[in-house]
Amino acid sequence: MKKEVVAIDGPSGAGKSTVAKLVAGKLGYFYLNTGAMYRAVALYLNRKGKTPDDVITEDDLKGIDLDFDNDGNIFLNGENVSEKILSPDISKLASDFSKLPVVRKVLTDQQRKIGLKKPSVLEGRDIGTVVFPDAKYKFFLDATPEERAKRRYLQLKEKNPDLGVSFEEILKQQLERDRQDSSRDIAPLKKADDAIYIDTTGMEIEDVVKKILEFIKG
Ligand code: C5P
Repeated sequence: MKKEVVAIDGPSGAGKSTVAKLVAGKLGYFYLNTGAMYRAVALYLNRKGKTPDDVITEDDLKGIDLDFDNDGNIFLNGENVSEKILSPDISKLASDFSKLPVVRKVLTDQQRKIGLKKPSVLEGRDIGTVVFPDAKYKFFLDATPEERAKRRYLQLKEKNPDLGVSFEEILKQQLERDRQDSSRDIAPLKKADDAIYIDTTGMEIEDVVKKILEFIKG
């Protein structure tokens, strides 16, 4: 039997987080932002002085306790790190650390556990391909690189008007992160064969949500 899981994958800035949160709200499902988990792990390891070139063992990850609330906040050992993990530095580190097999194993296990406990909407890069290949519904959200970078830039600027990074720099970093996420050996960013592809370029968030709910509700 297919799992009561809605998988939403895609590159950064494709609108996954906003859309997944709204879809989960409409369905009364739990919302899990798996990118935030990779980001929180990157923040933790960085604080411990670890770099992606170090040998990271399962022991290094033992001190990490991740928790979530219904508003999509993530807590790292009790600390709400939801805002902190959005910085461009952590974006890069999350992508670098997420290549490591041990990091993927630990987080994939946790994501499966959460998704099996209650009906959930999970968003990330490898939900429909690796974490829940038997998810009942799979979507792959995409948009042009310029539109994706614009969304990320405006999101960061809204949170921090003094953002010292230009749009061009965000676009460059995003292209590099997408290249790295798509070309890694384990669980690369990839559309599952049976996922529904939605190009969100020029689409309003509500229309993307509506489209997804139409597929789910038949
Ligand atoms: O989605 P978000 O941009 O917050 O993800 C941050 C990084 O975490 C991605 O660039 C990717 O390297 C990694 N990630 C992943 N697998 C997931 C979700 C995120 O490797 N399921």
